[in-house]
Amino acid sequence: MFKIQAFMKPLLLSLLLLNGALFSFDTYAETTIQRVQISNPDSGAQAMIKLTKAAKVSHFTLKNPNRVVVDIRDAKGTADYQAKSADDLIQRVRNSKPKTSNDTRFVFEVAELLDYEVTTVTHKDGPYLLLKFDDPQPQSLTMITGRQSQRDDDIIIALDAGHGGRDPGSIGPKGTYEKHITLAIAKKLQKRINAEKGMRAVLTREGDYYISPSQRPLMAREKKADLLISIHADAFHTPQPRGASVWTINERRSNTEFARLLENKSRQSELLSGASTVIAQSDDDLGFVRTILDMTKEGARKSSYEASDYIIKELKKVTQMHKKDRQYASLAVLTAQDIPSILVEVGFISNPMEEKNLNWSKYRQRLADAIFIGLEKYFKIYPPNGTLWSRLEQKTDIQHVVKSGESLFKIARRYDTSIEHIKRVNNLTENSLTVNQKLVIPRG
Ligand SMILES: [Zn+2]
Repeated sequence: MFKIQAFMKPLLLSLLLLNGALFSFDTYAETTIQRVQISNPDSGAQAMIKLTKAAKVSHFTLKNPNRVVVDIRDAKGTADYQAKSADDLIQRVRNSKPKTSNDTRFVFEVAELLDYEVTTVTHKDGPYLLLKFDDPQPQSLTMITGRQSQRDDDIIIALDAGHGGRDPGSIGPKGTYEKHITLAIAKKLQKRINAEKGMRAVLTREGDYYISPSQRPLMAREKKADLLISIHADAFHTPQPRGASVWTINERRSNTEFARLLENKSRQSELLSGASTVIAQSDDDLGFVRTILDMTKEGARKSSYEASDYIIKELKKVTQMHKKDRQYASLAVLTAQDIPSILVEVGFISNPMEEKNLNWSKYRQRLADAIFIGLEKYFKIYPPNGTLWSRLEQKTDIQHVVKSGESLFKIARRYDTSIEHIKRVNNLTENSLTVNQKLVIPRG
């Protein structure tokens, strides 16, 4: 098994099924290369080479143009790939004459010679060679979704009022139902969010009716939520415990759900809306799908952590915390693999004092405001790509002073813009840069 480091950027996949039709068996070849898949996301890039049998590999780099040459011992197969954009790292893949005639040589022409790694990974459907390039500047925690192109301008937050209908949740000593408290807070929070330009809240339930916990993340996905917050109130069999706490999914549950997901093709394509063509084109390719899903999952998990910490910071200002740090739990409502998900216990309904507070509208407003401010701070720093907030953040052009070893390619990647765009704004006719040259980096 192998581990893929999580990409923190939305994936735009370009995938090519190269020689799917080519199964000419050469008597000398021990291994047949079934296909070469290129993915050129916004950060990092990789090629997956599907083999019928594991093979010995050697590789080296060449400059002018930048190339990574991969020799696969005793193998036969072809590749022919041409990138559509100059901003893609892997620009071209082609065969070239190997030193030994039984081998296959692939030449990867790359926009930049980044650090790379060649490993053999074995999935259910057989071995792959994975050529993986490092991201020059790992982008920080942005939401990973496959739907950037047609996404909403607003950051969408799914607010999930815990319990409802036949499920009252916990009941306070004075007879307060958790389900009413959670809905009241969710509605206040929704109002606050909707008053903010560029943010929108959707509720999983708007009244007093039952929805199963596992249904709730599905609803959030349906609404294309960027984040899910489930609101609850805690309870204990003694009256003393009090205070709020914030929860995210625990690792074991997350992994169990992930394994379950890998067994379920229809859920996978639903989850990978934007990347679903990948699955369609390579039905047997569990390895590739797994890689993409794994990156999505890790991205969502990290975002859950970040967002939780912002919310905790703000909750601390308005209430005592039952747990000072982020907590982990195995809860169905937190099992969306692609949507960062957080559960907030706003206080103990079993504590008479807190029950009283929670019944007080002003106090509920205070809690809703604290959660809102936490969210606002989080999304100011990590606005999902394609939203109004991400564009506002990018409004101001920045000055970049070229350092030694920097290229237009590196700079374009770092600022998430294109080489063409930088050239146009700076009236550059060539791709070469000089040290200390000042560039205006256009944004948005
Ligand atoms: Zn609850």
